[in-house]
Amino acid sequence: MAASSTTSTSTSIPGTALHTETLYVGARDLVRLVQRLGLPACIAGVAERIGRDFLRWEEFEKTPRVASHSRDGVIELMPVADAARFAFKYVNGHPKNTREGLPTVMAFGVLADVATGAPRLLSELTLTTAIRTAATSALAARALARPDSRCMALIGNGAQAEFQALAFRDLLGIRELRLFDVDPAATAKLVANLEGEGFDITVCAGTAEAVKGADVVTTVTADKTNATILTPELIEPGMHLNAVGGDCPGKTELHCGVLERASVFVEFEPQTRVEGEIQQMPTGFAVTELWRVLAGHHGGRRSADEVTLFDSVGFALEDYSALCFVHDTALAQGIGQRIDLVPAQEDPKDLFGLLRSEKVKAVVA
Ligand code: NAD
Repeated sequence: MAASSTTSTSTSIPGTALHTETLYVGARDLVRLVQRLGLPACIAGVAERIGRDFLRWEEFEKTPRVASHSRDGVIELMPVADAARFAFKYVNGHPKNTREGLPTVMAFGVLADVATGAPRLLSELTLTTAIRTAATSALAARALARPDSRCMALIGNGAQAEFQALAFRDLLGIRELRLFDVDPAATAKLVANLEGEGFDITVCAGTAEAVKGADVVTTVTADKTNATILTPELIEPGMHLNAVGGDCPGKTELHCGVLERASVFVEFEPQTRVEGEIQQMPTGFAVTELWRVLAGHHGGRRSADEVTLFDSVGFALEDYSALCFVHDTALAQGIGQRIDLVPAQEDPKDLFGLLRSEKVKAVVA
């Protein structure tokens, strides 16, 4: 791994005293957790953890994710670790899935003790990915967008869209939404889901209409192609662009002229060079990692007229933060089940003995 070393003292994850038990938080459990805490509190809680973990950037062992590409999609593994915890996420991206009744993005993940390697949490991460992606986008926008930003164009109104809207409302103060999707049913779903959430919503006939006059432009479309959702003539001085949908080789949303016009901020540069909008640009094209802005090493936006761009692809550290949030809040709320993902052995050297005892039990039963 291209990594900073993690040789300092390891500690167990608090709240998981039983060494072989794993907390399982399934999709239904996660829904209960979010309903109990409230989605705004979950977005805020995950954003707070991501912000805190990004400030510890150099403590993490980081690597670009491992991707398996196929004709219609990609399946990825995303590992990251600090001295105490190892996390990974399994995630796919198949834009054609929705036509067959499956989500474009599905995910699950694990949090494990570095000290022992014992898996402590196995969790759904489909819903959680939407929360952490929106939280990261809004954190970036809070650091990079003009502070008086109130109007956001939201291009792509599918599974991620509500989460983006709510995170930008709560973390940045967005009150006006201008929506466009090539699928009018997706926009109608978004409008219905955001009813009563305090937005002034305009449904637009195209991207150009939605983008005109917006302070922030979020692109969160799904298509396995080099799309040009945003072209240079649509970009106005002072805009902040939040490009979320381009996240693997050959899958981008912005015309390269937009990148030339903007100051570009990324999560983990080695990964974004391969997967992000900047895959279109030469190797020397200048970008800044977001953690540097959050830590105060880089000033972020330099003027009210500057165009800033967060080239989001999704980085493992955001999932680490989200998994920690799920682990701690699920334990505190008594949500989830303890499962035997690994066997409990009286004698850890006698794995075979486990089969004998299970066989005996089966015969007796
Ligand atoms: P989705 O399939 O539910 O929604 C995507 C929407 O984009 C659909 O409604 C589709 O009609 C619309 N769309 C496609 N082409 C369009 C175009 N040219 N103009 C306007 N709308 C268009 O997918 P989702 O779960 O909402 O994910 C959206 C994208 O975000 C995917 O590409 C996914 O891979 C990506 N994603 C990125 C991150 C990250 O961390 N950066 C995290 C999650 C998902």
